[in-house]
Amino acid sequence: MKMNLTSPAFISNLMTEHQLHFNKQFGQNFLIDQNILEKIVRAGKIGPEDTVLEIGPGIGSMTSEMAETARRVITVEIDKKLIPVLNQTLGDYENVEIVNQDFLKTDVLALIGDEKTPLKVLANLPYYITTPIIMKLLETPWPDSVDLTRMTFLVQKEVGERICAGPGSKSYGALSVMVQYYADPAVMFTVPASVFMPKPKVDSVVISLQKKTEMPYTPLDKNQFFKVVKGAFQTRRKTLINSLSHNMPYGKDVLLDVMEKAGIDPRKRAEQIEGEAFCRLANLLVQSGSSEH
Ligand code: SAM
Repeated sequence: MKMNLTSPAFISNLMTEHQLHFNKQFGQNFLIDQNILEKIVRAGKIGPEDTVLEIGPGIGSMTSEMAETARRVITVEIDKKLIPVLNQTLGDYENVEIVNQDFLKTDVLALIGDEKTPLKVLANLPYYITTPIIMKLLETPWPDSVDLTRMTFLVQKEVGERICAGPGSKSYGALSVMVQYYADPAVMFTVPASVFMPKPKVDSVVISLQKKTEMPYTPLDKNQFFKVVKGAFQTRRKTLINSLSHNMPYGKDVLLDVMEKAGIDPRKRAEQIEGEAFCRLANLLVQSGSSEH
């Protein structure tokens, strides 16, 4: 019989049975609303041929839901104390692999293996490492055998809005540009703080990232591109010229020269600049030979 993994009473009993406490350090806020959980899994658009990668299963509530549809589910949990719980709650699913690792240190390609497979990622992310997890997934050099199209994440509302924002918006920042270089993000729906145990201080959103099949523009040096973007937004209230000269090892003369060549008004602020223009700027800096790497 399927366990009710979103029942607060069930979760409390399970935690007591295994002598566990919610570990704040690992960002443990578990979902306690079955409807919301099913809605999130539906948003993941998981098909019967799919391998699904989950980060942070907690007690396995989303994992078991995904395992009903997916061909294979790989779930990575850092907290070794949760592994006996997961063995209990997911024991009936032969298509689930539980991996006790820190996802940021995990060799994801080794995890998936050599098989040719469509891959989806779905996770209620631990808030303290949302950005590094998403960037790791986006920057992984997925082989042709792995067809990763869609990632669906539950994240803090403010982070989700930053990821999805475009130029001109207050939320638009380095994270927006970096994620949107790799993927088309969208906010799907809001998830109130009340459906978590323990209840976090802020609401969340579910976002989807549709991975781009072709890069929208071509940085000569991706690190340099990202450094320019981060430098520009680091002091986002300053003009672009002041921000970049303050945060990057270039003189104003070099920067003014490349901005003119790139057709970018140096008096604008970073939040008015599109990713493609940042890329033009970074490429001209690389070509000018005055870059610092
Ligand atoms: N999926 C569950 C749910 O929706 O109820 C739990 C989500 S909870 C927000 C985040 C989970 O990520 C926790 O189980 C936590 O222990 C795990 N976690 C935290 N840091 C991690 C890391 N670096 N690698 C893998 N799992 C991690």
